[in-house]
Order: sequence, then C-alpha cells, then structure tokens
Amino acid sequence: MNRNEILSSLKENPEISVLIVGAGINGIGTFRDLTLNGVDVLLVDRGDFCSGASAASSHMAHGGIRYLENGEFRLVREAVRERNRMIQNAPHIVKPLPTTIPIFKYFSGIFNAPLKFLGWLDKPSERGSLIIKLGLLMYDAYTGKHRTVPRHKVLSRANSLAKWKQLNPQVVNTATYYDGLISNPERLALEILLDAEADNPNANTLNYMSMVSGEKDTVILRDELSDETYEVRPKLVINAAGPWIDIANHSLGLSTRLIGGTKGSHLVLDHPELCAVIGNHEFFFENKDGRIVLIFPLYDKALVGTSDIKIDHPDQARCTEEEVDYFIEMIARIFPSVKVTREHIVFRFTGVRPLANSEAKYTGQSSRDHHIEVLSGDGTNLNFPVYSLVGGKWTSFRAFAEQVTDKALSYLGKTRQKNTRDLPIGGGRGYSTDANEQKHQIDGFAARTDLNKERLQILYARYGTRAEELAAYIKRAADAPLNSLPDYSRREITFLAQIRQRI
Ligand SMILES: Cc1cc2nc3c(=O)[nH]c(=O)nc-3n(C[C@H](O)[C@H](O)[C@H](O)COP(=O)(O)OP(=O)(O)OC[C@H]3O[C@@H](n4cnc5c(N)ncnc54)[C@H](O)[C@@H]3O)c2cc1C
Repeated sequence: MNRNEILSSLKENPEISVLIVGAGINGIGTFRDLTLNGVDVLLVDRGDFCSGASAASSHMAHGGIRYLENGEFRLVREAVRERNRMIQNAPHIVKPLPTTIPIFKYFSGIFNAPLKFLGWLDKPSERGSLIIKLGLLMYDAYTGKHRTVPRHKVLSRANSLAKWKQLNPQVVNTATYYDGLISNPERLALEILLDAEADNPNANTLNYMSMVSGEKDTVILRDELSDETYEVRPKLVINAAGPWIDIANHSLGLSTRLIGGTKGSHLVLDHPELCAVIGNHEFFFENKDGRIVLIFPLYDKALVGTSDIKIDHPDQARCTEEEVDYFIEMIARIFPSVKVTREHIVFRFTGVRPLANSEAKYTGQSSRDHHIEVLSGDGTNLNFPVYSLVGGKWTSFRAFAEQVTDKALSYLGKTRQKNTRDLPIGGGRGYSTDANEQKHQIDGFAARTDLNKERLQILYARYGTRAEELAAYIKRAADAPLNSLPDYSRREITFLAQIRQRI
C-alpha cells in the first residue's frame, strides 16, 4: 500500500496489534522481527526514516573495546557477536575495518583499569600498551571461532613510524585490530524496513506521522504533511523514540526520566592528504582528556568524531565551534604535520545518544547497554502497555529487537516462528565478497538487463545485489548522469524516490 492507502485503511480499521513509535534502527529492527513473526504492526516516524540518532552515528559496527574497563563484558560480547552478524548479513554495507590505536605510554592504565572496574576511579585516564593489549586479547576471544575479522597485531615504535610516516614520533606502539564500518547506516536501515514490508502484507510504515497523545485504548497520530489526525487502537505501544523517549511518553500522560542523552558531533573533511595518511585504516585513540576519538576513511573523505556532552533537550543538538576546535586539535595530536583547517570541512553532523539516565560523573562512562522499560496498568491512563526501548548501539540493534520481540510475542500470546540471526539484509542477499564471484554476478546482471558493466559495477558497490532490480528499472527509460554527481543518474534517483511513494 502507498501512503494514501495506508491512511484510508487506518480510518476504516484503527485496530492494530503493535504501534511502534520511532523509525530509528531500534524501531525498524523491532518492526522487522515482529512482522517476520506474523504480527500486524504500524511503524511511524515524525520525520524521515532513520533521521534521529541512527543517522548521527560514527558508522562503526563495534564491540566497544573500551566498555571492558567499565566491566560491561556482556555488552561487549553481544556487540562483537552482532558486529560479526552484520558483516555476514549485510556484507554490501558493513565491511571489516582495520582499526589502529596509536599508544603513547607503556604502562598507564594498568592500575587504573581494575580501579575503574571496581568503581573506585571515576576519571577517564590514558590507557597504556599493556592494558590495551589485554583488552584486545579479550576482544579477539569474543570473536570466537567465527573469524569474521583477523586477530589484532601490535607494532613496535620503529615499525609503527615506518608504516605511518606522519604519526606523532612520541608514539611508543601501535595496535591494529578489526571492527566493522557501516558505510551507509541510513541505507541499511531502509533496506531492513523494505525487507520487512515485503515479507508481511500487514506491516505498514508511515513517515511524517507523529504520535501526539493517547488515552484509554486510543493513540492519536498527526500527519505532519496535512495536519490531519488519525486514531489508532493498539494492543501494545513500543516507544522507540530514541533520545525523545521521555517526550513521547509524556504525550501519553506518562511522566518518565529514562534518558540522559549525550550529544556527539562529527566532521566530514575533504582532505586528500589526511585520507592518504590514514589509508584504509580507522585511527582510534585517546585525546588529552581521556575521550576516545576517531578519524577514518568514509568514501573519498575523512570522518572525524566525536564529542560526548550532556544535553537537556535533543532538539538543541548542534555541532558548535568549540567542538570543531577540539577536533582540529585532536588531529594535530596524532598527525602533527598534517594541517587541517575549517576550509576542509564539507559537512558537520550531530546527534544525541539515547543513553539510560545515569549518575556517572563522566559522560564516557554512561553505559551503552540496552533495556526495556515497561509502563502499564494502574497509575497510567492507558489500556495498553508501553515498552520504552532505552539505550543501545547501532551494532546491537538486532539483539535488542529480538529481546523486544520476544517480550511482545509473549504479551500477544504468540510464539516465535522465525529469527533474524542469519537473515540477509536487502542487497546483502546473495552478495559475494569474492572478486571473481562478483564479476560473474555483474556479467549475469549485464546480460539480463542490458546495462553496461561499468555502471553495474558502481551500482553493485552501492546497492549489492539490488543492483539488478535497479538496472532493470534504469533501462526502462532514457537516463542521464546528474550534473553535480555524475556517478549517480536521474533514473537511479527516481528509483530511490519512487520505491517509497509514501510522502
Ligand atoms: C554521536 C553518536 C555516535 C554513535 N556512534 C555509534 C557507533 O559508531 N556505533 C554504534 O553501534 N552506535 C553508535 N551510536 C549509537 C546509535 O546510533 C544509537 O544507539 C541508535 O541509533 C539509537 O537508535 P534509536 O532507534 O533508539 O533512536 P533514533 O535513531 O533517534 O530514532 C528515534 C526516532 O523516533 C522519532 N520520533 C521521536 N518522537 C516521535 C514521535 N512523537 N512520533 C513519531 N516519531 C517520533 C524520531 O524522529 C527518530 O527518527 C552513536 C550515537 C551517536 C548520537
């Protein structure tokens, strides 16, 4: 159904099993799992799909090695497992990313780590080689027998400086390990959403649709394009509004303080010298203040981030000039000879991490773990329960969605029929990482669609095996490259726009 058809059907029949509010990765992940298990679900977002925290991430599918020192072993193990699954299920978007840590001290952190683990030390402080080595050994162990990514390696000072010539000569070691790069998180989220819709005719999604209030058995939604309101009567509401969870609960008359969000900003730099220096590696390191920061290659640009600053209201998040100064200084700490100025910035973005409200003194210590907060029954003015999805990481979205779905299925009196553990996503279905096999697939697409192989190679790199569907569409009418981005064509953009005729 297109947008108008969904809206008419809602008017005719406002009864639905589950209403999910918020189409970030947690809402979308839960939508997929529920629809896969035959539940009728309506997913709404007040803006574009995947435009909140999920569009502001550092693009990393990672276990979060530094959470080990907070004693969050369960979280790290789960995230490493989920990182591996993302690399397997969405190989066209999530790729192993060599990650290098430049280390400036041998021993620092060795006494701090156990103190931090026991909760006796609050302040972040610099980690030395030994403690990083221990962390990486553990991290490798969590990758387990499924060696989706290679083991870590530590290089001496001399070898590090021979390999990374512009690296700050004060370095004592570098350690290289692997995580995953989510090259295009928004596309990945949309592909999950499209898969889910294709799988279940009772799965519907609406963007530009806000939840504005609720009472007894009814929730009121407002169409942000027409201002018209719609009533729905769900058996269960899943509040996946990320940093806006408390505000969304408030609109249902629920007074919660579940989120203590922190703002994180990024810069995208057009800086060929910096890109050449880092190569295909992410540099992941501590700044002077103990914050972990990163520089890494994103297509032909460099992505730099991120800050971690407490914020009262998510709508206030902006990347400030102070943050820009902080990032520019931090690059100079690692690569002193590479000059970066504001002229190199082509894009800034910022978002708020929907972290659980925490008493931690330093923002970096707030847990990245996830949980479901249930509000129902007496004390609320609602006849349905509300599950609020608190915390989490992009990386662990599937596991979080599974946890929410299990709970929802049990509430609805249903049993799980399918799971998403090994379920390929979008253009990751049938995608091969082997160069020969890729060539073979592209030859096949070219023969079947009559689009030239050079163009198909670009589409394959961008959309995985969905390239064939796209190529067939492109060939149905005259096409031309975009003036500003000749790598993209008009028919390609029309395809992307028309696939969602919902707005
Ligand atoms: C700076 C930063 C860096 C990060 N880096 C990483 C990383 O590298 N790796 C990683 O794994 N994780 C990372 N994360 C964490 C990860 O991005 C988030 O945990 C995740 O995206 C949260 O998704 P969500 O679906 O819960 O929230 P969101 O993506 O914010 O989705 C919530 C949605 O709810 C909608 N909404 C709000 N109110 C309403 C309403 N009333 N009605 C309808 N819709 C509503 C919003 O429009 C929004 O789209 C990072 C986060 C940030 C901010």
